[in-house]
Amino acid sequence: MQVVRTRADLRAVLATSPRPIGLVPTMGWLHAGHVSLVERARAESATVVMSVFVNPRQFGESSDFEQYPRNEASDLAKAEAAGVDIVFAPTVDEVYPAGFDTVVSVGAIAGPLEGAARPGHFDGVATVVAILFALVGAERAYFGLKDYQQVRVIRRMALDLALPTTVVPCETVREPDGLAMSSRNARLTPEGRAAAAVLRRALLAGSTAITGGERSGDAVRATMRDVLATEPRAQPDYVSVADADTLAETASIEGEVLLSLAVRIDGVRLIDNERA
Ligand code: AMP
Repeated sequence: MQVVRTRADLRAVLATSPRPIGLVPTMGWLHAGHVSLVERARAESATVVMSVFVNPRQFGESSDFEQYPRNEASDLAKAEAAGVDIVFAPTVDEVYPAGFDTVVSVGAIAGPLEGAARPGHFDGVATVVAILFALVGAERAYFGLKDYQQVRVIRRMALDLALPTTVVPCETVREPDGLAMSSRNARLTPEGRAAAAVLRRALLAGSTAITGGERSGDAVRATMRDVLATEPRAQPDYVSVADADTLAETASIEGEVLLSLAVRIDGVRLIDNERA
């Protein structure tokens, strides 16, 4: 496995790498969710590139950026064990060279949910992913459906800007109690970690209600909020039942919906979702 830190070195090593190339963008602190993306990429690619970059432009609060967990040595060992060929681990200045002054801004699909709760977040995501797509020129890039809206935003961007990389969505990997794996879980106390399982319970309660015939968006939101309210450490940011295609809030459930949550557990903001 090669580790490269500059745009120039990345281009140089990729010039002689066999195709197709699979790209797995990450912010590090690797866990089994990231590994599942690498495994999928490994199965479909001759060269697997992983980026490890905590992107300041997608964080609103600088404290959130600073507190984001980092451990490069451990990440490199996990990446190698998972079958990555090339890790791109650049500095902020390498990704955003002096005078950097371009933003990729995706429209309607980036508006609700995470876009509303975290102004500027998806501009930061789309901009860094556009840079990564341009640098790597991968045939495919792998993204987790834990960040469902992110997948939709990146797909929209790739389509609109005619980027030659196909976005491959991958299912969420969970802990045994259902908690979606996330680098942020590392910031939970043992009590917070136990409490965090409430996100999954709330989503499953919502999904069960729909399977049982409930058609009112408000009723399903209330069901999910009731479950969250059983956990005193959980502070909901949003509780959503949205059209799975447009991500607009649903009044009356007809087609496929996306149930999604953002919840703070002891101040650590976690998200999860379920299609129903
Ligand atoms: P992150 O390092 O959190 O930015 O995540 C990098 C990629 O891994 C994104 O495409 C995420 O959606 C994906 N990912 C994060 N957590 C999981 C998970 N539990 N299961 C599957 N993919 C995940």
